[in-house]
Amino acid sequence: MIVALKSTSTNEQIAHLENWLKSRGLTVHISRGEYQTVIGLVGDTSKIDDDLLSGLDIVEKVTRISEPFKSANRKFHPDDTVVETCGVKIGGGNFAVMAGPCSVESREQLCNIAEDVKKSGASVLRGGAFKPRTSPYDFQGLKAEGIELLLEAKALTGLPIVTEIMNPAHIDMFENVDIIQVGARNMQNFELLKELGKTNKPILLKRGLANTIKELLMSAEYIMAGGNEQIILCERGIRSFDGYTRNVLDLSAIPVLHELTHLPVIIDPSHATGVSRYVKSMAMAAAAAGADGLMIEVHNNPSAALCDGPQSLTPAQFDDVMKAVEKIRMVI
Ligand code: PEP
Ligand code: MN
Repeated sequence: MIVALKSTSTNEQIAHLENWLKSRGLTVHISRGEYQTVIGLVGDTSKIDDDLLSGLDIVEKVTRISEPFKSANRKFHPDDTVVETCGVKIGGGNFAVMAGPCSVESREQLCNIAEDVKKSGASVLRGGAFKPRTSPYDFQGLKAEGIELLLEAKALTGLPIVTEIMNPAHIDMFENVDIIQVGARNMQNFELLKELGKTNKPILLKRGLANTIKELLMSAEYIMAGGNEQIILCERGIRSFDGYTRNVLDLSAIPVLHELTHLPVIIDPSHATGVSRYVKSMAMAAAAAGADGLMIEVHNNPSAALCDGPQSLTPAQFDDVMKAVEKIRMVI
């Protein structure tokens, strides 16, 4: 339920209404926008009489929200959410590029790539320490050591780091990680989402391989229900029948999500296409369609990468993509 307040309402009146709503057992979200303050209510709103609320002096309009996602709903929070870490902002007109290898392989590999992507304008370093691999015989990541190496690369470059978590029992290991990634395969790992809701870390939530936009938003809702509202959504391609690309990049998810939610939306053209030569055009298209950022895999020697080499850009190719994306951003 949404309660839009009149612009004349005072802080005292708002606080009074807030306390009353809380006393009815509801969770109250107040969003103070430039032009209007909106109160979002989560919980059993059937106890609330719409007419009584609409009749209050400070209330302009009461609306019941039909969508199952409440906290993530743009109706709850009309302004864009800006997620911030180490001075890097994502959303609300702030565009951020996260780049780095699929998996952390060694100090030398990671630090070289980190320096290169920074020079090209990336603002966050990515790198998998725990890798969700289809085959148990494939490289599973350097795990805790990978996180240590990411922290070393952060100390070297100043870039904040994003890395994937797969197991709620590992949360303590992510204490110094700046953005925790929930990968496509874990988008509906609800126990993991609940634990992440208790943290105060920005979460990069990737859309599942075969999940709807509504399901993605419901997963964000799981995290938000725990009190953590710093979520970046990531479209990384969905499964379809065509084999020329690894997945099908749903670029329409950008305007749809921007309409439905206030959370920032980034695009991962690397996992979406699975082919390095298609990454540039999809990165440009994502920027043109209004994405709030990109996540791109970069490797100093893609043909020797332990994971996702075919979709990884060399640092030189990444630099070229960054220049092209910048041009698109200037145009729009
Ligand atoms: C990744 O970012 O390395 C990754 C495994 O991505 P996804 O979860 O989108 O497959
Ligand atoms: Mn990968």
